[in-house]
Amino acid sequence: MQRKPLIAGNWKMHTTIAEAEKLARAICENGIPNDREVMVAPPFTAMKAVSGAVAGSGILVGAQNVCWEEKGAFTGEISPVMLQDAGCVMAILGHSERRHIFGENDTLINKRVAGALKFGLVPVLCIGEKLEEREAERTFQVLEEQLRKGLEGISLKSADELVVAYEPVWAIGTGKTATIDQAQEVHVFVRSLLRNLYEKNIATGLRILYGGSVNSKNVDDLMGQEDIDGALVGGAALDSTSFSRIINFK
Ligand code: PEP
Repeated sequence: MQRKPLIAGNWKMHTTIAEAEKLARAICENGIPNDREVMVAPPFTAMKAVSGAVAGSGILVGAQNVCWEEKGAFTGEISPVMLQDAGCVMAILGHSERRHIFGENDTLINKRVAGALKFGLVPVLCIGEKLEEREAERTFQVLEEQLRKGLEGISLKSADELVVAYEPVWAIGTGKTATIDQAQEVHVFVRSLLRNLYEKNIATGLRILYGGSVNSKNVDDLMGQEDIDGALVGGAALDSTSFSRIINFK
């Protein structure tokens, strides 16, 4: 099955509104091939400005988190409806920085996934093992637990409703990338888990992104792997030249 590659940029806690707008415009100017999808996830404060800047380019706007409720007493959270109001269509959930700096667990992440879907946002569910877990040969066990718990009770009508991102924690922001073989091995494993959870067409059509120090130099090799359907990019997404090169992977 042909899966449309998705290149997603996670801008994390970077950029003022003006900087975000400038970055978004520069990415648009470099052009987007129409055989792939591109998403950028700016800070919440810049989302509306970025949506305006990318309008008509085909670039999608995503959020870096989302609450499961539409509104109410949830101090510090952001509602899916508020995000949509600012032009957002996707949400990165369970990012390792949310899990390991802010203590988000699988139960909370599962609520966020359900909430995003309920309001029509596409969750990009991130899973990934820590270095000590890989060294203890617990990678598959950790990933299976994160995926099963994160998707508990989540039914899908089509493969477009969800994206999974494999991001080994030891490769995020460290300059260390999983080897092609390490990444491909995990993607095959994640696909097999998805086949246990969803009917064949959906499991086969779901996109599994790789994330962890993806840059303009390693993207071609990573994207050359059959089971790597895209990239979730942090640091290299903040520079329009490098992000555009990643978008235009060969
Ligand atoms: C990320 O933030 O999801 C990420 C993969 O960051 P980096 O590309 O900087 O490793």
